[in-house]
Amino acid sequence: MPQEEANAGTTAQLDDEIENVRVVVRTRPMDKNELSAGALSAISVDKINRAITVMKPNATANEPPKTYYFDNVFDGGSNQMDLYVDTARPIVDKVLEGYNGTILAYGQTGTGKTYTMSGNPDSPQTKGIIPNAFAHIFGHIAKAKENQKFLVRVSYMEIYNEEVRDLLGKDVGKSLEVKERPDIGVFVKDLSGYVVHNADDLENIMRLGNKNRAVGATKMNQESSRSHAIFSITVERSELGEGDVQHVRMGKLQLVDLAGSERQSKTQASGQRLKEATKINLSLSVLGNVISALVDGKSTHIPYRNSKLTRLLQDSLGGNSKTVMCATISPADSNYMETISTLRYASRAKNIQNRMHINEEPKDALLRHFQEEIARLRKQLEEGDSLEEEPPSSEEEEDTADDELEAPLEIELESSTIQAVEKKPKKKREKTDAEKEELAKRKNEHQKEIEHAKTEQETLRNKLVSLEGKILVGGENLLEKAQTQELLLEQSIAELEQHEKSEEALKQTLQQKATERIDIEERYSTLQDASTGITKKIHRVMQMLMGVKSELADQQQEHQREKEGIYENIRSLSRELALCELVLNSYVPKEYQSMINQYTHWNEDIGEWQLKCVAYTGNNMRKHISAHKTSGKEPDFLDLSHVYLSYNTDGVSNPMRSKSARPRTSGVPRPTTARRY
Ligand code: ADP
Ligand code: MG
Repeated sequence: MPQEEANAGTTAQLDDEIENVRVVVRTRPMDKNELSAGALSAISVDKINRAITVMKPNATANEPPKTYYFDNVFDGGSNQMDLYVDTARPIVDKVLEGYNGTILAYGQTGTGKTYTMSGNPDSPQTKGIIPNAFAHIFGHIAKAKENQKFLVRVSYMEIYNEEVRDLLGKDVGKSLEVKERPDIGVFVKDLSGYVVHNADDLENIMRLGNKNRAVGATKMNQESSRSHAIFSITVERSELGEGDVQHVRMGKLQLVDLAGSERQSKTQASGQRLKEATKINLSLSVLGNVISALVDGKSTHIPYRNSKLTRLLQDSLGGNSKTVMCATISPADSNYMETISTLRYASRAKNIQNRMHINEEPKDALLRHFQEEIARLRKQLEEGDSLEEEPPSSEEEEDTADDELEAPLEIELESSTIQAVEKKPKKKREKTDAEKEELAKRKNEHQKEIEHAKTEQETLRNKLVSLEGKILVGGENLLEKAQTQELLLEQSIAELEQHEKSEEALKQTLQQKATERIDIEERYSTLQDASTGITKKIHRVMQMLMGVKSELADQQQEHQREKEGIYENIRSLSRELALCELVLNSYVPKEYQSMINQYTHWNEDIGEWQLKCVAYTGNNMRKHISAHKTSGKEPDFLDLSHVYLSYNTDGVSNPMRSKSARPRTSGVPRPTTARRY
């Protein structure tokens, strides 16, 4: 059964915890190309005040540097562990408690989004958030109490050109539907989900998905930078409470590597490419619109439904999730405009408020389902055992040597019953030959039945072992190779605490100095001092004014760029529309146009126009008619070819020539199926 991955419901609850989206910024070191092109660094990272300052290249005196403040900042020397411990760890901890969590990487292509999310697998120190989260989750399970049971499952998808693809599915090229259900929220239909047994399994799955993403990329001219990748890890936990009642909680972690945020250059794009570029811009600009609508406090409508990405991230932004955005930037002055644009985008996201709660007894949890199935299989096996003289004693180990992924999570519920084998009382009198033969035959059958029961039991036992393998018991050490990863994480936590302490001390000294300075400034003894003070103040205010002015100019410039982009889209779409209209007006008579208009409606759920009673449209009718012609039979349906017509004359009436074939409002008996109109 393919899994339907779902976001937990978005309904607010009374005991919701309210928290803003946390935003951190990471700058990567200068790369070879930037260095060889002689690029200069345009940014400085202030770790104490958690600020990034950007200097405009060749700035005039009226353009002072701009400073942006965040929840945390990481410079080019920051390592993966520090980033994980500060940024991802608190979220993964919450997911383990049963909350939803989201980590988004946003930024220009080539600034380190994929490095931050997946990282470089070659060494434990360079692995990214996803593998570190694996080590963290399985480290947690290893330390959990024995009365806690866990089920970890994952899925991996990509959104490219407004189409959702399953990176772990059998057919990566297939586009999947995004659906919604009141009880479980928005989900992707037929997305495959894998149950994971340990951190190494998870890494293999991530690698497989990344490989599939890369395959797609070569097919699409290296356009992976234009796709959004969403890796989801769902952790279900059951715990035995009072009165032997099982409590199930489910936390879902979404790890999102967004498409490059840079403006797509439209100049070389045309036709299909241009359409794609427009759609790709669409989901990121809808994301921007969603953020703006969420933070301006006045909007009553948040345009989540306008793109697949925002529909799937509905809970992550303004909903039931603890969310962090990691914005990545390049230090080079050549990327100044994109860097400013990223920092501004990220700055706005800080103001998004989320409401989160623990997902208790969720409708789409599988753990309880599995446990019930295990209990049922156990019972069946016990019943089977009592019928046999010697129950097989060897416990079978699950075959874990298989490097391939295990079959997609499948729950088989059909019951295989063991047939009871009755024992017949033996009689002691002499037997005739016929009786002996009969007895031998019966014995044989009996033996067969026992054999059959044994194989059935074997199957049941295997099923049980496999199901039990899916459920992880608290205290089990499943880290294996990931052990080093977990150790590294713990070391980093200790280091971070140390850092935080020294940072705090430093901050205090700074604050003290600042107060002293203010004191000194206040002790103006002479008018001369006062005047210098005021001049200084004026200077500072002037600086601020210039800062605001240059910020305004930058924003105007960016808006201008955006506007030009939108105009260009409008122009190209209008051109296309004109072509469609030309074709339509030249080949489809007016009355049919209005009829088609009447019978089409916009399906909000799948974002497509749909034609009612599409089975009666010309092309479909033609298919039927030609099928009947070849089979020589009369069609057993009403001829509706005059209702929806194929304008390709093929023995079907042609409205351009035959007047009587025009649509009529009366006199044509309607088929019963047409009542659905
Ligand atoms: P994006 O996914 O944003 O397009 P990548 O993650 O692919 O960018 O990064 C581009 C290049 O920069 C890669 O070669 C990556 O290894 C390197 N890189 C990115 N961030 C860092 C970092 N913080 N430290 C070292 N190298 C980095
Ligand atoms: Mg990338």
